[in-house]
Amino acid sequence: ASFSSFSLDARLLRAVADLNYAHPTLVQAKAIPLALEGKDILARAKTGSGKTAAYLLPILQGALNNERALVLVPTKELADQVLRMAEKLKKYCDKAVKVVNIAQNVSEMVQRTLLADNPHVVVATPSRALLHTKLNPTSLTTGITRLVIDEADLLLSYGYEDDLQSLTKSLPRGLQTFLMSATLTPEVETLKTLFCRSPAILRL
Ligand code: AMP
Repeated sequence: ASFSSFSLDARLLRAVADLNYAHPTLVQAKAIPLALEGKDILARAKTGSGKTAAYLLPILQGALNNERALVLVPTKELADQVLRMAEKLKKYCDKAVKVVNIAQNVSEMVQRTLLADNPHVVVATPSRALLHTKLNPTSLTTGITRLVIDEADLLLSYGYEDDLQSLTKSLPRGLQTFLMSATLTPEVETLKTLFCRSPAILRL
């Protein structure tokens, strides 16, 4: 497969070309076409597999149609990495696509300002996402159509299960969900039941 075989916007393909990726990684080759068809994805994919671009490209494609997404990650460091990757991939989309990271160490006021701008993509830890759904029930979740739960096994080992359970109550129904995990433990299977609708299961 090649990136240009995916039904992605030319601006995204141009940004991928700048990254000099010779070809899609396995998770990208499998996940991106299915995701663009609207399928939920459960992928057993480790760090280094290219999983971040595998979910960001379909999400940014949606953002170009004004669709919103929430990306949940276990740590601030991972949130920074996801933001950096998103910025590289959306560099030719200009202001058409807004991505923010509310997991970083900034004041609650700054976080609220970031969300008030109605970004297309919000990167957060579950605790930060939950905080903002409590502060303002609409700013984070209104109009979101896609959800990423990245490094699900780590999220669970860090004790985020309760926050994830609480978040389901605030999230719209029928989201397209991307559940990424290095291991498919029974606990990750529980998240699958909670968040996914007959996902494509990619064991890579
Ligand atoms: P990730 O697994 O998402 O943490 O990505 C690991 C590293 O792989 C990152 O530095 C990416 O820039 C890089 N990467 C992602 N996709 C590709 C690709 N198709 N070809 C080569 N490197 C890639």
